[in-house]
Amino acid sequence: MSDDKYDRLKRIPNWSQEKLANAKVAVFGCGALGNEVLKNLALLGVGHIWVVDYDTIEIHNLTRSVLFRESDIGRYKAEVVAQRVKELNPDAQVYPIIGKLEFAFGRGLLREMDVVFGCLDSIGARREINKRCYFAGVPWVDGGINHQLGNVALFDPRVPETACYRCQMDRSAWERLNERYSCGYLKDSFKEPTMATTIMTSSVIAAYQVEVAVQLLVFGESHLKPGTQLFLPVSNPMGFRTIEFTLDRDCPDHASITQKGGTSAFAAKFDSTPQKVAQELDLWEDWQLELPFDFVSKFTCHSCGYIEPVKKPIKEIKQGDTQCPKCDNSNREAVKYFRLAADSEDADLPFRDFGLGERELLAYNGQTYQWRVNIELFSDSKQTHQDAD
Ligand SMILES: [Zn+2]
Ligand SMILES: [Zn+2]
Repeated sequence: MSDDKYDRLKRIPNWSQEKLANAKVAVFGCGALGNEVLKNLALLGVGHIWVVDYDTIEIHNLTRSVLFRESDIGRYKAEVVAQRVKELNPDAQVYPIIGKLEFAFGRGLLREMDVVFGCLDSIGARREINKRCYFAGVPWVDGGINHQLGNVALFDPRVPETACYRCQMDRSAWERLNERYSCGYLKDSFKEPTMATTIMTSSVIAAYQVEVAVQLLVFGESHLKPGTQLFLPVSNPMGFRTIEFTLDRDCPDHASITQKGGTSAFAAKFDSTPQKVAQELDLWEDWQLELPFDFVSKFTCHSCGYIEPVKKPIKEIKQGDTQCPKCDNSNREAVKYFRLAADSEDADLPFRDFGLGERELLAYNGQTYQWRVNIELFSDSKQTHQDAD
C-alpha cells in the first residue's frame, strides 16, 4: 500500500524512498518553522523523527502552525506535533522531547542523526545547535524568519573547510547574544523579542530547509553548499540570493570536530558518579571530565561567609540569584567549571544532578590531554543499550 502512496515521488530520477524511510532527523523547535518542517517530513515519509521543544502552545501560534488546533492551547508543542505527525504518517517513528536541546538531547543520540533542523528564533539556540552538531559531526539546516524575509543555511562539519554558524557570527550577533546573558547568567530583565511573521514566510523557509535536507539524505549532497546561506525576501522574489560565509580559522566549534576522539563510548548510568565511573574504567588518577557547558557548583559570599550549593548549568541561573540571600551582597563568587577535576567535591555527585540530557556524551581527559575516554549516559530503563557504535 505504501508503494502506491509514494508512487509519484519514486518517479523523480534517482529518488530513494527507502533512504527517507530509514533516515533519522531531529527538529529543534516546534513553532512556526518546526510545524512546517514536520508537516513536510511527515508527508515525505521520513521514518524517524525526534522533536525537541520546552514550550507550550499559545493562542498567537495558531495563525502559522498547521499542526496546532485551538483545543491544543496549553499543551506541550513537542507532544502535539508528535501526535499530528503520526496522524499524517502512521509509519513514522516520532519521539517528542520536552526540554531545552542542550539539557535534554544528548550528543550520543545527536550523532546518530543524519540531519538536524534548526527551527529556533534565537542566536543563543543556534549557537548551541552548531556547537553540538559540530561536536557530533552532524550537518544542520538553519531556518530564520521575520515578517517578510527569511533565510536558510547549511552547516556541515563533514566538510570542515566550510564556514559554520559560529564562524559567521559578527559583532552585532554577539551583541544580541549578550543582551540575553550577563557574565554567563540569564539576565533577569531579558524577554525574548516577539517576532512578527506570516505563514507565507515560514512555509517558504521551511520548504527550503526540507529541500536541502532531502537532497542530502537522498542524493548525498545539496545544491546549497555547506557554509552558504540562501537569503529569501519572500515578499520580493527579485531579492533571492545566496551568501557564502567565510571560514574562521580560529573557530572553536571547528576545533571540536577533531576532538571527537573516535566514535566509541562506554555506557554509564545517570545514578553513577564521575568518580565511580573513572574507577570502573580504571583511569589515571589525575582525570578531568569535560562537561558540555559551564556548571556552577556553589556561590561563596565574601561579605558574610555564606556558602550556598548550586549544582546547575550556568545558563539555568538568573543574574538575580548571584545576590547573597543572607547579606544582600550582589557580588558573590561562583565556583564554576566545565572541566570537573578528580579532586573536586562534585566528583561524587550523581550524573543526574549535573543537568545532563539522556545519551549525553562526556569525555575524560588526562591533565595534559595525553589520553581521552568517552562515556555516554543512559537512564536505568535503557541500560540494554550497547556501547554506542
Ligand atoms: Zn566555525
Ligand atoms: Zn553574604
